[in-house]
Amino acid sequence: MNNTVEKSLLWAKNILKENNCEAYALDAELLIMEVLKISRVKLFMEQKRILSTEEYEKFKEFVDKRASGVPTQYILGTCEFMSLDFNVNPYTLIPRNDTEILVETAIDEFKKNNVKSFIDIGTGSGCIGISLAYYTEAEGTCVDISEGALETAKINAKNNNVYNKLKFVLSNIFENINEKYDAIVSNPPYIRTDVIEGLMREVKEHEPYNALDGGEDGLYFYREIVDKSHKYLNEKGFIFFEIGYDQGEDVKNILESKGFCDVKVIKD
Ligand code: GLN
Repeated sequence: MNNTVEKSLLWAKNILKENNCEAYALDAELLIMEVLKISRVKLFMEQKRILSTEEYEKFKEFVDKRASGVPTQYILGTCEFMSLDFNVNPYTLIPRNDTEILVETAIDEFKKNNVKSFIDIGTGSGCIGISLAYYTEAEGTCVDISEGALETAKINAKNNNVYNKLKFVLSNIFENINEKYDAIVSNPPYIRTDVIEGLMREVKEHEPYNALDGGEDGLYFYREIVDKSHKYLNEKGFIFFEIGYDQGEDVKNILESKGFCDVKVIKD
């Protein structure tokens, strides 16, 4: 059978659409680009290229996985964040575009205030801590409760040449930490437990549950981090949090009740 790129893509887009994959066209393209190891430009120049049997089988396997709900990034094994490449796998949450706002804000403030050290709590793939180490002078400690996530973050730090600016500590929040930092950054799990069941299958069935669950009111980690933060922050230290769309008031209150001033909420 002569399966051209064009024909294979058409087939894949239909299957993915039928299986409720939201970005079915983009996903099909990314998957075939990965199988053929070609760029987007090349993809459009090679519409008539005929896939070898192995290529076609591999593509079919990827498309079947995606159709069953596995996120494209886990199939590709990589994801771009802040123009850097990150390995991702089911131990790590997939970095979100929204989180770039948190990182960009932190980069600005780090530079303005000469922040030299930070701790990234719940680092996952390491996307936040690694980006901060890459784009600023600061050095950091990345912590996660998941060994698999921490190993992935280490690989990502090496791949992005910032391994020597970072430490990696297996820790439930601050449990194994005994240093102080100029800043705490975190995109903690912040989804209310009862909301998780209603999330897209890609998220609830494939992303790590412990990276999502923020407890009954979604605020567990903000409370835990803020409560103990004074022990781990240098004087005039900063906290940068990503929060859910409706958590601004609550997280502001948590911070202010512990004496933090100048609390700003930025909408993405
Ligand atoms: N810090 C990581 C990220 O932003 C992981 C976040 C999490 O697991 N809640 O992707």
